[in-house]
Amino acid sequence: MFNALVMSQDDEGTASPEVKSLALSDLPEAEVTVAVEYSTVNYKDGLCLSPKGGGLVRKYPHVPGIDFAGTVEESSDDRYKPGDKVVLTGWRVGEAHWGGYAQKARVKADWLVPLPEGLSTSQAMAVGTAGFTAMLAVMALEDHGLKTGHGPVLVTGAAGGVGSVATAILANLGHEVAAVTGRPETADYLRSLGATQIVPREDLAETTKRPLESETWAGCVDAVGGAMLARVLGQMKYGASVAAVGLAGGAALPATVVPFLLRGVNLLGIDSVLQPYDNRVRAWQRIAKDLPMDKLDAMVQPATLSDLPKLGADILKGQVKGRVVVDVNG
Ligand code: NDP
Repeated sequence: MFNALVMSQDDEGTASPEVKSLALSDLPEAEVTVAVEYSTVNYKDGLCLSPKGGGLVRKYPHVPGIDFAGTVEESSDDRYKPGDKVVLTGWRVGEAHWGGYAQKARVKADWLVPLPEGLSTSQAMAVGTAGFTAMLAVMALEDHGLKTGHGPVLVTGAAGGVGSVATAILANLGHEVAAVTGRPETADYLRSLGATQIVPREDLAETTKRPLESETWAGCVDAVGGAMLARVLGQMKYGASVAAVGLAGGAALPATVVPFLLRGVNLLGIDSVLQPYDNRVRAWQRIAKDLPMDKLDAMVQPATLSDLPKLGADILKGQVKGRVVVDVNG
């Protein structure tokens, strides 16, 4: 038997979470059984923990948790053997498949990556989907010509999970980082991660009629979307790129095409869920190399399975700072 945070639906179709004891035979069929050590809380986890499952959960009872790291217990796939340390992010685990908010998980071998050298299972979950996606965004900006010395790189939603990791990676790579936050009290935290400039959210929250403003940013990792992304496009330097990661501020994009046509600005889409294996391994290797572990430690708040319902609600309100590491055995 093992513990899991199980979402169950009542007769009205409202789901609620409870820590329950499950048997190994309750787990779905798949090739690899993992003794989970740590999971985390991403924005999407907040949706899956909500009463309607955010439109992501396929059926109940359900075990959420879109990320986990742990040790292989059983494997019918040659790529993994008992004792191997592994990480899982994405593939709709925790949404369409049972996820990491449990002491055991059973998943397809294709969905796993070996724990990157230099990271513990706890550090891998401090990174999690949020940090992995931040790295993918930085890699995409680099692939499109981002170099140090071209000016400040903007990070929106900076005090959140994606934003915190993006800030720390970019600063460590030698970029000036301008961190946009709606929480002025996080300014010292963001500076400690390496931000050189704090931009109040209000400065970018309003739409403007002017499609182009002063050329200000050499790149942008955008976790917010909506009116803020539209505004930022008009402030990019000539030829610069924005990596669109999130929609914490909205899914609509009230923009014009003028920045694309007159300034050669690029809007790069970033998806972490179906990212191919080779690029996953490349991103995790870059994380181990380019994300300073002391900065990662400074982002983390620890939690256990029973803390998850509150943390899920908090992250949807934009109230979680940095990254949460969930000790599923705690
Ligand atoms: P967090 O909640 O940790 O971070 C989001 C941050 O955005 C908040 O902390 C807040 O930062 C800011 N924010 C929240 N609401 C608003 C608002 N209304 N207007 C402006 N800013 C706002 O979430 P994550 O970092 O886990 O995820 C961020 C986004 O990225 C989500 O939309 C998520 O779905 C998406 N995502 C996408 C992935 C992909 O594969 N494309 C993978 C991972 C995440 P502050 O307080 O500093 O202003």
